[in-house]
Amino acid sequence: MSDRVPPRALTPRTHLVDTLLAGEAGMVGVFTHELADGSVLLIEAGSGATTDTVIQGLNDLGIQPSDVRALVVTHVHLDHAAGAGHLAAWSDAPVYVHLLGARHLANPTRLWNSAERIYGDAMQRLWGRMDPIPEDRLRPLEDGRPLELGGSRFEVLHTPGHARHHLTLIDPEGSAYAGDVAGILLEDVPIIRPALPPPDIDLELAAASCRTLAQHAPDRLLLTHYGAVEGQEAVQRHLATVPKRNQAWADEVQRGIEAGEDHDALVARVRQLEQAELDAANVEGDPRHRYTAMSNADMTVMGLVRHHAKHVAVDADGRG
Ligand SMILES: [Zn+2]
Repeated sequence: MSDRVPPRALTPRTHLVDTLLAGEAGMVGVFTHELADGSVLLIEAGSGATTDTVIQGLNDLGIQPSDVRALVVTHVHLDHAAGAGHLAAWSDAPVYVHLLGARHLANPTRLWNSAERIYGDAMQRLWGRMDPIPEDRLRPLEDGRPLELGGSRFEVLHTPGHARHHLTLIDPEGSAYAGDVAGILLEDVPIIRPALPPPDIDLELAAASCRTLAQHAPDRLLLTHYGAVEGQEAVQRHLATVPKRNQAWADEVQRGIEAGEDHDALVARVRQLEQAELDAANVEGDPRHRYTAMSNADMTVMGLVRHHAKHVAVDADGRG
């Protein structure tokens, strides 16, 4: 558990603020990017339970509410966007989101209720609250239409796969804010963890999105979970590896489905795979703890079972 982690400079214009989700460092980040005119874009908002920590981090960086030009979220899952309403009200700034996700920020009730079915009693502790964002404050983004803010220009890519409405922003310094479409890579853990939650994971779309990102050849990937993959070579290697990791985990779950295993057995299967991978990579101590805390085998199984029903089972029937 940590109560303070100072914001970290990733580039001359970009900082990483640790949201300390559930008191854990190095799991969920919010990025700040200084625009050409000196104002600031926030990328990601974090959970609704950690906005005070984010605001504290912004204070540490000397960022006042009036310095915030806008917020953008890569997608509307609660670890990225639940805090957006609160931060938008605090800064009086507009919120950019892919147009397919905008309605969930205007009215988070459905999103919240479906998360409640998964998280139950842990809802408040993890996600706090999710304030609706007035529609006139929301700015929908579309693939290929660049975002111009404060004299800086960002490329906007629709990168579905993790979520239907997932987007990636590339800033003028060549940093790609990749959200969760390029998986989870925690510090001091040499293993990419697939990020495959329900309801709309799609392995083919995720692979295509990784290819799209690779074609744009960013100089670094900024992962919300957690931090930077530096340099074109490392970025290309990472983006080539993600689809293989996703497929390996999907294959493992598929073997369980084909063996008739129930949800709990599939979850046990995913946990076992995860532990075996951590053992093989000699990940111990704090990094192992963080990886396990960030991991949610329940969600992975729900996501992959859904994916299987929607794609694999249908294809095998010849109806897809
Ligand atoms: Zn996430």
